Amino acid sequence: MTQFSRFVYSPQYTLYDFGPSHPFNPVRLLATTSLAESMGLLSNLDTVEPHSATSDDLLLIHHPDYIAMVQQFQNNADLHNPVLLQEAQKYGLATEDNPVFAQMHQAASLAVGGTLTAARMVATGESLHALNIAGGLHHAKPRSASGFCIYNDIAISIKWLRQHTSWRILYIDTDAHHGDGVQAAFYDDPNVLTISCHESGQYLFPGTGSVEELGTGKGYALSLNIPLRPYTEDDSNLESLEAIVPRALEYFQPDLIISQHGCDGHYWDPLTDLLASTYFYSQISGLIHDWAHQYTQGRWLAVGGGGYELLRVVPRAWTLLWAHMTHRPLDYDAVIPQSWIDRWQPLSALPLPHHFIDRAEDRPTTPRSFAIAEQNRQTIHRLKQLITWL
Ligand SMILES: [Zn+2]
Ligand SMILES: [Zn+2]
Repeated sequence: MTQFSRFVYSPQYTLYDFGPSHPFNPVRLLATTSLAESMGLLSNLDTVEPHSATSDDLLLIHHPDYIAMVQQFQNNADLHNPVLLQEAQKYGLATEDNPVFAQMHQAASLAVGGTLTAARMVATGESLHALNIAGGLHHAKPRSASGFCIYNDIAISIKWLRQHTSWRILYIDTDAHHGDGVQAAFYDDPNVLTISCHESGQYLFPGTGSVEELGTGKGYALSLNIPLRPYTEDDSNLESLEAIVPRALEYFQPDLIISQHGCDGHYWDPLTDLLASTYFYSQISGLIHDWAHQYTQGRWLAVGGGGYELLRVVPRAWTLLWAHMTHRPLDYDAVIPQSWIDRWQPLSALPLPHHFIDRAEDRPTTPRSFAIAEQNRQTIHRLKQLITWL
């Protein structure tokens, strides 16, 4: 029987761990599942254990030399081998962003396997919506790690889907950072349309994602970028997406939506300058859900992504997403269970919020918000000038 929504999860996901001083910390996955469970939104019946990605899966995107290098790091001795570490730096590893850790190949392969498992379930019709919160590693490149991403689960899964279905795929990425690895993998592909809405690369890693990056060859005008100004607030963020995505869906007629739900654009996130609240993250999840039912017969694969306010933001943003995916959206007044706060508060230096949706009066605003919204409108206008069908 088709079950609408599946949550792909393994306790082994937490082995993807760059260490306690690194911002990409797997505690956010535990705190998210704990919150969804304590809301009664997630049980064993919803959950599917992922298969790990195979070498053949990884080779859909990654170069064998790179995979072989990631595989080198198996035990503690490898982590301190100077020759190996120097070699690894040629592949973006053993850097401040992407430090090496024992069994990183196994951990990263499982994150990829989670998204592939979700993709297979949607492809077979076993599930209409599927979520892998350990996925969303959109920066990884064929021959290198980048921005905390070792293997690119999204690009691999899109390649797999293209091999096993005739589906056209629309990818939408609302992480605060440009989805550069996914864009690059399908830059000339006429069957994959990518949309990334992010803080402008003029101010933030990885520096790419300008409106002028449009794709090439048969993929021309199928790479769309919405670079937002720093300090963009919810309304302008949503207005920008609503100006582009529905039109892209109508034009491209995809068979599947894949969405990346990095929530590092939140105003509390330590790594970026956007001013999104959890209201934005709930709204965009609901919009993508509506679009899937309207344009792709409900087919929707969602993944996590960035998010470095590990306990105050990520668990709420992704529980709000899962609530939409299971047709039980939470409203403005939805409250965090006290039992969840009691369990996780000791791990947070700052007080955990009591509501899922940030209170309007608590959200920071900038006196420049009108000017910022106007600048974002000009960016949308420029994108529409560049793409004739838009
Ligand atoms: Zn990010
Ligand atoms: Zn639905």
